[in-house]
Amino acid sequence: MPPCAYRGGVKITGSSDWREELPFDVPVLVADVVPGDPTRCSECGIDSAPHERDALWAVRRRNPKSHAGVVRFHCAAHLPPPPAPVESEEVVRLRRTAARAVRAAAPRRPTVPERVAPVCPTCFVEVPPTGVCGMCGERVA
Ligand SMILES: [Zn+2]
Ligand SMILES: [Zn+2]
Repeated sequence: MPPCAYRGGVKITGSSDWREELPFDVPVLVADVVPGDPTRCSECGIDSAPHERDALWAVRRRNPKSHAGVVRFHCAAHLPPPPAPVESEEVVRLRRTAARAVRAAAPRRPTVPERVAPVCPTCFVEVPPTGVCGMCGERVA
């Protein structure tokens, strides 16, 4: 007769444990964290049809009233966009400054190709902008 196997001692993890594993503000497929029967989107309303859990996302949000945050289920239609990264005043200010610097560095007018100075046909030297050859005094341009 085999010795009586000790039964028990296996702790059932609390049903809320999976929530505490979720990262904040990152939608996670509900089927991956709490598989089970179809359930409702928190925004579709009480009268809505339940969604399969592989078509629902759990999003953990920070909540001032709950240290663990609040987890809600969202269907694809109600999946909230990820929150915009919080930009500090400093970052915004730096970016504005950088944009200004780029504008200041850019030429105000499109660059005009450099004028090719005419060459005196007699002396074969470049004629200054006056158009008068510095060697022979002939007006070239
Ligand atoms: Zn919904
Ligand atoms: Zn000349």
